[in-house]
Amino acid sequence: MNHFPSDIFVDFNVVSIPTKTNFRGITNREVAIFSGSEGWSEFSPFVEYSNRESSTWLRAAVEASNTPWPHLYRKSIPINATLPNVSPEKVAGVLKNFEGCTTVKIKIDNFISGAELVEETLNILPGTKIRLDVNGSWSLDEALLYLYDFHLRFGNVFEYIEQPCTSFDDLVKLKSEIPMKIALDESIRKNLDGDLSDLAKAGDVAIIKWAPSGGFASAHEIANTVCLPVVISSALDTGIGISHSLALAGSFENLDFACGLGTVALLESDICEPALIPTQGFLDVNRVEPNFALVEKYQASEDRQEWWKNRVADIWKEWNL
Ligand SMILES: [Mg+2]
Repeated sequence: MNHFPSDIFVDFNVVSIPTKTNFRGITNREVAIFSGSEGWSEFSPFVEYSNRESSTWLRAAVEASNTPWPHLYRKSIPINATLPNVSPEKVAGVLKNFEGCTTVKIKIDNFISGAELVEETLNILPGTKIRLDVNGSWSLDEALLYLYDFHLRFGNVFEYIEQPCTSFDDLVKLKSEIPMKIALDESIRKNLDGDLSDLAKAGDVAIIKWAPSGGFASAHEIANTVCLPVVISSALDTGIGISHSLALAGSFENLDFACGLGTVALLESDICEPALIPTQGFLDVNRVEPNFALVEKYQASEDRQEWWKNRVADIWKEWNL
């Protein structure tokens, strides 16, 4: 085993928190937390991510624990609700965790089941703005067909469609055909070593994430390169990670959209008290600390603690080579 840098990762601990709904096939979310000179941070790439991809998350985590936050233009961030691909009867239960949010992002697979979720959401929250997130899973033909159907059925309720296709060329064609805006997530996050300067041809909005971007400085560099309005979003972080994402949202001079930072609501519990779930559709930007009773309650097993320490030690060594 490589040496674990305990001087950098002070008070290192791993929690495992059950999710309320199946999100990306995950029923328990494992997250490592630690502190540094500036405060607490979180390292939580999904367990199947490679060391290479995870090293970007580790850079973000260490930057946030040891470097002051960037200048903040605002201290309160508008938040969108996030609706996983659940069955329609579960929609109301999920949405009630997002009090006051007037934008709902819905994860969908296709038109038929997606339309049920849109319809149920609009029944519960009439007049809400809808975002669909496809995670790049449609071909160009599917995207054209489905989005045409969505537009015919629901009209102008869509704020944007997130990553309908994967390929850059397909997105460029789609953008010229559909009446909705396109937001780019995987096109940015899974392509950080590629050329991002052309992306405005393929989309209208850039989804920027704190940890997958490599932290504050790197996220701003990416946003400057992509040159599109930004939406700051998260994966499935605890309040510790969310606090840094909120600071990132606060550090952009222009923020025209609600941000996808209410996802603590999809976990059984936060490890911060109070939990970082939106009230009246907003979350405030503050440094936060874990509540140690909650950390103890959700503490991961010895085996998993060791696994995460090894993961950090391996990535740390590779990264310092
Ligand atoms: Mg997405």
